[in-house]
Formats: sequence, C-alpha cells, structure tokens
Amino acid sequence: MTWEPVIGLEIHVQLKTRTKMFCRCANVWGEDPNTRTCPVCLAHPGVLPVPNRRAIEWTVKLGLALGCEVAPRAVFARKNYFYPDLPKGYQISQYEQPLCGPGRFVVPGPAGDHEIGIVRAHLEEDAAKTIHVGGAAGRIHGAETSLVDFNRGGTPLVEIVSEPDLRSAEQAKRFLQLLRQTVVELGISDAEMEKGSLRCDANVSVRRAGEAGYRTKTELKNMNSFTFVARGIEAEVERQIATYEAGGEVVQETLHFDPQTGSITPLRSKEEADDYRYFPEPDLVPVAPPAELVASLAAAIPELPGARIRRLEQEIGFDLAEGLVTSGRDRLYERVEGDRRAVANVIMNQLAGAGVDTERVDPAELGRLIEARERMPRTVFDEAIGRAAEPGFSAAPYLEQQAVSDAGELEPAISAVLAAHPDQVAAYRGGKDGLLGFFVGQVMKATGGKANARVVSELVRERLGA
Ligand SMILES: [Zn+2]
Repeated sequence: MTWEPVIGLEIHVQLKTRTKMFCRCANVWGEDPNTRTCPVCLAHPGVLPVPNRRAIEWTVKLGLALGCEVAPRAVFARKNYFYPDLPKGYQISQYEQPLCGPGRFVVPGPAGDHEIGIVRAHLEEDAAKTIHVGGAAGRIHGAETSLVDFNRGGTPLVEIVSEPDLRSAEQAKRFLQLLRQTVVELGISDAEMEKGSLRCDANVSVRRAGEAGYRTKTELKNMNSFTFVARGIEAEVERQIATYEAGGEVVQETLHFDPQTGSITPLRSKEEADDYRYFPEPDLVPVAPPAELVASLAAAIPELPGARIRRLEQEIGFDLAEGLVTSGRDRLYERVEGDRRAVANVIMNQLAGAGVDTERVDPAELGRLIEARERMPRTVFDEAIGRAAEPGFSAAPYLEQQAVSDAGELEPAISAVLAAHPDQVAAYRGGKDGLLGFFVGQVMKATGGKANARVVSELVRERLGA
C-alpha cells in the first residue's frame, strides 16, 4: 500500500508600498534599526490607525490573479498575543471576513494542469523583527540577548492560504514558484525568500492511497528558499510514513526544518497553541471595495505566468517554458527571432548559466549570435554570450570567427580521441549511442573548442559506422 502526501501552504507576501499599513512611516528594507517608526507603529496610547489604500488595492489585485472572489465587505480584526515584536499586544489582521475569499489557481505541470484551491488571501500588518544574539543559527534557543527592530513592525503583509490540494513536495515547490512570479509581475512585492519578503509555511500530513478524509497534520515553519521548502516537506513526509509504519501516531505540532542537517525538530505542540481571541478592530471601519474599482483592477491584470507557460509549451516543450517564465526570462525569449528551441536553450542554459542579466541583452544581437552559433567556435560563442549584456554589445566581431568545419582539418583530432578511448568505442558499437556526445566533447577539448560540433558529430558517426 502506498502513501499519499497531503500538503497545504501558507504564504506571506510583504507588499512594497511606499509607506506602512496603518501609518506614514517609510516601508523600506535594510535601514538602521528603529529609524522608521512613529507613535502609531510603536503603539503609543491614544493613537489611531489609518489604512493604506494602495495596500488594499494590491491585495484585491493579487486575489483576482489567484482567481479569488473579492469580498464586498471585509473586516479588520485584532489577533491577540503577547510577544516582544508586537508592541500593541495584538496584530491587526483579518479573520472572519477577509478581503479575498475562495479561489482557484491553475499550476501547469508536465502532465497537465493542477488546480490548487485558495482558501483566502487577507491583509494584515507585519510584526517587528527580533534578532537573537549568541544562540546557534540566530535562533532563540541558547541566545544571550534578543534585540527588536521595529522598522518592519506595521508594514503590510498579505497572507495566502491554500487548500490541502498539493500531493508532492515537487508540486508544492512548483506552485510556490509560480505564485512568486505572479506576485513579482503584479508589481506589488519583491517576493524574495532570502530577504523574507516571501515566507512559506507548509501543513503536511499523509494518508493511504484511496483513503478518504485527512489525518493529523504538522506545520513546517519559515523555510527560506524553494529548495528548502521541497526538502523540508520531503523529510516530514518520510518521517510521518515511518511513524505510521512503526505503529505510531503523528502528533499535531509545529516543526522547524534545519536545511544544514536535514533534521526536523519540534517548536511547540498543540497544547501550547495560542488562542488568539479574535474580535473586530473597533478603530477601523469595514472595507467595501467599489465594484468599479475591482473591475478596473481586474482589467489591468496582464497575461499571467501560468497561461504563458501553456502558450510557450507548444513551441519549446514544458520544461523550457516553465524555466523561462518562472525566471522572468521569457520577456527576452519573446523578443528574439530565430529557431524557438535554440533561442530558449541559449537563454536558459547559457545566458542564465553565465549569470547574464537578460533584461540588458539586445534581442536583435542575440538573435544574430544564435543564428550563427553552429558556425562559430564554441569558445568564441561563449565569450560573446558572457558579454551580451554589456552596453553597446555587437555580435558582428564574433560572427567573423568561423568554426573549423573542414573534415581534413578535423580528422587527426578525431582519430586521436577514438584511439585513446577503445573501451568507449567498443561500447558505442555495442549500442550505447549516448557516448556520441562524449566523443564530440573530447574532440572539442582537443581542438580548444574551435571545431564545429555538428560536423564533428557527423564525422564521428561515420567513422564508427553507425
Ligand atoms: Zn509608523
């Protein structure tokens, strides 16, 4: 009997509005600690919050992109808990009436579309940032002192909660990457996991294939890269399966995944879970987005990344389409003329591999390089690619350097390579066709990258009589 993972994500997106959620302090990252504060975000007695209109509009926009219903009337609520990063003793959030209600977000996969249910997307204020000094890995355990930076306190945050519709770590990562790219393209957040402007928690459980209902879930907290999200979920799924197979029970708890060791440790159990005593925020009136505003925000949403993956897939296959779109490199791809697969491959494998900023590449010059690629020595092509983002870059000087395609000039190198690798030659003749690339690579190396790879490939094939 096989096990099926059941995964839901909770994603926090920091909005890049100019000012904070309920005051006029600057919403900026990386400033000196506690320099962007005022009586409102420090919760002095008697102050009143004023909501940020832009943050509300952006949340509606994001909800629309996630296929959510926009509530005609949303209510801010107080979420009460005590912690040093929360000067008011409560966080202004949304509870029973969030701004964006149920939705469906389509995630294209290699074997078809996957629809992920969205429970809600609501707007809240972020807590301040605590910095633990002296403990291992900056965590509170074993720390000597803890510092609080209130610059982040009161900045706008959207929380997106998915249904438990994800069935593998891979799928969760794919969903998160597509969601991130969507947020970035809407222009509402930098959504950078390593900076904390995109944060992800995962709710994980497992069940027998075909079993109805859900078993006890655990919550994995704050994984700060796409890879760690996938690895954390995988590790937790394995742990739960092992627990059940050993006759044990999974306990509801909050867990921390350590990417260095791959270990999972409890942060707190259900018994310690907080009761937040939500109630409507008495200092704020309900938010009622006018229908015309919602309609104009909906009309301004561009073609979304998921739709573009499906469109480009027709030309270049799923993997390249997904890679281009989720990295934002499809903007360059769409502007370069030439063989679609060759263009996609060069952008994804060579330009991206060389760390070239694709936004600065001239599409016409890149198109010329790609068109001439097979006639150029590999080293010359690589050098051109490495400089493609430099101001005023021209392909012309590189196009003049043709690769060696003359059989007579290439034969000695091919003979030498085949003579040096008798075992591989025998294996190739025995049916291991994949070794052709190996021989071509060796010849390219022997000629200092100046040979025409396509001609070498043909010559080797002829020589080996295949
Ligand atoms: Zn403030």
